[in-house]
Amino acid sequence: MTKNSTIENSKIGNLKTDKLTLKEKPAPKHAIKLDGIKEFTCVSCPMGCMLQATPLESGEFKISGNSCKRGLTYGLQEMKDPKRNISSTVCVSGAEINSLPVKTAEPIPKGKIFEIMKEINKITVKAPINVGDVIIENVLNTGVNIIATRNL
Ligand code: SF4
Repeated sequence: MTKNSTIENSKIGNLKTDKLTLKEKPAPKHAIKLDGIKEFTCVSCPMGCMLQATPLESGEFKISGNSCKRGLTYGLQEMKDPKRNISSTVCVSGAEINSLPVKTAEPIPKGKIFEIMKEINKITVKAPINVGDVIIENVLNTGVNIIATRNL
């Protein structure tokens, strides 16, 4: 391997990368190493353990580096079906300010973030609004609601 090598459109286990540049220096956090192991931080608690996900021939992953079962669950979900929370704002009429902060009531599939942001950006609501009011129900059939995070 040369000092700076590039792998394009590589497939490592279930993990597809469009372009991966490998350098002969310590792997950065959230890196995919040559042997296909992915490293990332567990965000389930403030300890922030560094997890390693090793792809297995079965298509599953072996998670290591976790200090507890929550880390194992998080690591497997991050590899198979990563999810994220979104916080944003929608336009509001009839209030002193013109934007209402909103968020997903539960994490949504990471791959749907941009589509869901488009849906959020289409919305204008009318005051009064209470914290927890559903602004978009079952956004894009994810089973997750977009809710208000303040009173207006
Ligand atoms: S593995 Fe457990 S202890 Fe470590 S960050 Fe995750 S939840 Fe916290």
